[in-house]
Amino acid sequence: MSAVDSPVERVARPRPEAGPERAVWDAAATVTDPEVPVLTIEDLGVLRGVRIVDGSPVVDITPTYSGCPAVDAIRDDIVAVLRERGFPGARVDVVLSPAWTTDWMSDAGRRKLMEHGIAPPGRRAGGVVALGLGVRCPRCGSLHTRELARFGSTSCKALYVCQRCREPFDHFKEH
Ligand SMILES: [Zn+2]
Repeated sequence: MSAVDSPVERVARPRPEAGPERAVWDAAATVTDPEVPVLTIEDLGVLRGVRIVDGSPVVDITPTYSGCPAVDAIRDDIVAVLRERGFPGARVDVVLSPAWTTDWMSDAGRRKLMEHGIAPPGRRAGGVVALGLGVRCPRCGSLHTRELARFGSTSCKALYVCQRCREPFDHFKEH
């Protein structure tokens, strides 16, 4: 297994144990993604790490899609919330490698999506999306669902319909 594929690289960095890094992480973790407002950047795995450089916090983020306009909004929100909490002069570094994957989405994030009627992404095994397992309806739990449109309310979601309860729903696509 190469370093890139190691499980460690495939999960979000752990929340710092203590110190200013912990306070900075917790503040940054309240910022939501404009594309997926029900999820925080911590839920999504976009929040990758916190460092203190020359006395000022640096927050590393990996955006869900590179070049996504949401990056600027997330950056501004992080800087603003840190300023409010007594960390002026915070900086946000955008880290594009390794690329973000839906595998970094936390279990809490997946639960929140379900609660909002959005089917969470499936988990990849060894970089391959487990296709053919079906997308589970977030309302009734049926796997008897069908894709209506590859792009739903935002480009990261596809529109599905459940063939049991007949309800349409968004599916957060594997990426
Ligand atoms: Zn259903």
